Parts: sequence; structure tokens; C-alpha cells
Amino acid sequence: MRAEIISIGTELLLGQLVDTNAAYLAGKLPELGLDLHFISQVGDNQGRLAETLRRAWDRSDVVLTTGGLGPTEDDVTREAIAQMLGEEMKTAPELEANLRAFFSRRGASMPARNLKQATLVPSATALPNPRGTAPGWWVERGGKTLAAMPGPPHEMQFMWEQEVAPRLARRFHDAVIVSRTIKTWGIGEGTVDEMLTPLLHSNNPTIGVYAKTDGIHLRLTAKAKTREAAGELLRPLEEQVRATMGGSVWGVDDETLEQIVGRLLKERGYALAVMESCTGGLLASTITDAPGSSAYFKGGVVAYDNAVKMAHGVPAQLIEAHGAVSAEVALAMAEGIRRSLGAEVGLATTGVAGPEPLEGKPVGEVHLAVATARGGQASRALYPGTRELIKRRTATAALFLLRRALLES
Ligand code: AMP
Ligand code: MG
Repeated sequence: MRAEIISIGTELLLGQLVDTNAAYLAGKLPELGLDLHFISQVGDNQGRLAETLRRAWDRSDVVLTTGGLGPTEDDVTREAIAQMLGEEMKTAPELEANLRAFFSRRGASMPARNLKQATLVPSATALPNPRGTAPGWWVERGGKTLAAMPGPPHEMQFMWEQEVAPRLARRFHDAVIVSRTIKTWGIGEGTVDEMLTPLLHSNNPTIGVYAKTDGIHLRLTAKAKTREAAGELLRPLEEQVRATMGGSVWGVDDETLEQIVGRLLKERGYALAVMESCTGGLLASTITDAPGSSAYFKGGVVAYDNAVKMAHGVPAQLIEAHGAVSAEVALAMAEGIRRSLGAEVGLATTGVAGPEPLEGKPVGEVHLAVATARGGQASRALYPGTRELIKRRTATAALFLLRRALLES
């Protein structure tokens, strides 16, 4: 089934409003087995809106609109739908009674303008909106379906969940789409694509390769009659992908690296301390994005000045001999902070975030190290990109190194 979304509001076209409604709905359609073909944005103009609705109605099975259901003169979604369908809008007595009750509960009388929120056309039924005054419209005609929902996201999302999604699920129970995201770190997008080439040509399930700041994500998607059947299509593919990607896979779906290392630290009863140069606190900030991190995160030191590194146990001779951006110094930082803060595990970053090279080392050269009572291990990388991106990748790389060290411990 083909679906299409129309976001309505002149603010969208003026760049004053970001179309989060369309993004929300787009994310919900796959699980209903609906294929989204178009997203349009159109201003508060009845003629252009009717024209956009007509095109959508002709080429799609399901049309979803948000916005333009308010009481004001510029809210013309109902009028435009009526025009497109060639049907007449009439006040529905029970909707009018609801609307009047809504206002009287607030001790106000209903402004005349609001009356149009109590209208319907013959093909439409009302979708209740307990969070606002504007009911939505549900239209079925000639095998086509249209749902008009309000603009405010909390009203729209509530109506979607309570009214629209269940109706769509009943009407189109022919397929569901299920996805699984496999998250990897340390292998470039091109290489991942090459490694997966033999698997990339399948139509169902499919694999999408996406570069994110926490690595390459592989999105496996299957379409089937039931959720269970889709899961069965996904399982062997996930096994193949895991076998191909090996140790670079660190998580799935909504998992984050900071949650994973947090869990591993907790399981082992280890406390963590960090010393950061290149990442300037981003590593500590990321670690504390995981709820409950105070249970295992002792704290950290942002050590840009070499004197600060030395104050936490990095020998001056080491910095002189190898430079602050080196594996040797990263290791000494990790061990130094571990001892200094009395933690079982120390983690450190040092590198050249750019845009200028440092100590003769190129922009993007970074060194990470992790230290435990059993010794340390370091890892070097060379990242392309802006200062912001290099910092972000370095923090991710440090967490990935920590995860590996914890799994080995
Ligand atoms: P409307 O019902 O069109 O007057 O929209 C009311 C309010 O809902 C707008 O002022 C926005 O704050 C919000 N809104 C409308 N459309 C969208 C959209 N596509 N994405 C996010 N917010 C929206
Ligand atoms: Mg509007």
C-alpha cells in the first residue's frame, strides 16, 4: 500500500517550523506495512492545498495530513479536503455539542470561529482529540483513505496512536515491516559495503548501510505477513552479517556504547576514571549520558596543559620523548588517572583535533588508552573531518576500546 504525508502550514515554507510531524509519521509507517512514497509541505492556501490533496489522493492509497485544523481563517485543511472530494461541509450536532462542552468546562463560551471544527463531509468521520479542540477527519472513499490530524505534535501523536494507527492496522493487515539495526565501529563505510556485497542484493530482507557518528549502522529490514515471519527472515541475515563483520559489531537497535560499557563495568564491579585531552570533557559527558552512571563513573580530568597531565601521574620525560599526542602518553594518562582517582579502570584520550597540526602530527591523529591493574592497551587512529567530528569520533573510539578491554577482562 502506498502512503503519502502532507504537512500543512505556511510556517513550514518560511523555515520557521521544522516538519517533525512528517518525520514522526514516516517512522511509524513501516510497522504497518505501508510504503511511504512522498512527503509534501504546503502553505495555508486552500487552492494549492486542494491541488496537493488531489495529486496525493490520485496516486496513493493512504494520505496523512497534519496541520490546518485550527479555528482561525488561515486553517483551511477541512475546506480543501471538501473541495478535493467535491463534498459539502456541514456542522455535525454531536461534534458541536462536544466543542461547546469543552469550552464551558473551562468557563468560557465558544467563539463563533471554532464552529468549523465541528464540521464533517459525508465521507468523513471524526477522530476524537482529547488534547485539543480540533477533531481529526477519517475519510474512506473508493478504496482510498485519508486521515487529517492536528498540527501540534502532542495532539497529533496522541491521535495517531489512539485512532489512526489502529484503524490503518485493521484496514491494511496484509504486511508488517520489521527492522534490526546492527551497529559497528572501526571499519569505513566503503569497506563495510564491500564486505557485505554478496548480501546487499536481496530484496527481502534488505540491508541499508548508514554512516553515523558512533560508527556504521547496518539496518536489516524484512517484510512479511506477521511480525514473527518477518523476524524469521531477519534471523539468518543477522547471523551472516555478524559473521562477516566480526569484532567490529558492538550493539543493536537502540543500544548506545555508553550504556554497554556501563553495564559491563557494573557487572564487574569496576569504577572508571578518565583523563581527556583531545575530547575536552566530551568523553565524560557521553559516559554520563547513560542513566545510573554515578554507580561506576568516578569522574575525570580535562588535561590540556601538560602540567595537568603531570599532576595526575604522567612523567615529564615521557611527554618530552614522545610528545603529548602519542600512545606512550595516552597509556600513562590512563594509568595515572586510574591511580589518582582510585578507580579499577582508567581511560584516556589525546590527539590533534585541528584545524592546525600539532607537534608535527597531522590533524585527526588520536591515541586512546585503557588501563587496569593488569596493564594497559592503546589504540591509534587517524580521523578525517572537522574539529567537532574528530572529538566525537575520538570519544566513541575510546568507549569502543574500553568495551573490548572489559570483554577481555
Ligand atoms: P496548525 O494546526 O496548522 O495551526 O498548527 C498548530 C501548531 O502546530 C503550529 O504552530 C506548530 O507549532 C505545530 N505544527 C504544525 N505543523 C507541524 C509540523 N508539520 N511539524 C511540527 N509541528 C507542527
Ligand atoms: Mg496553521
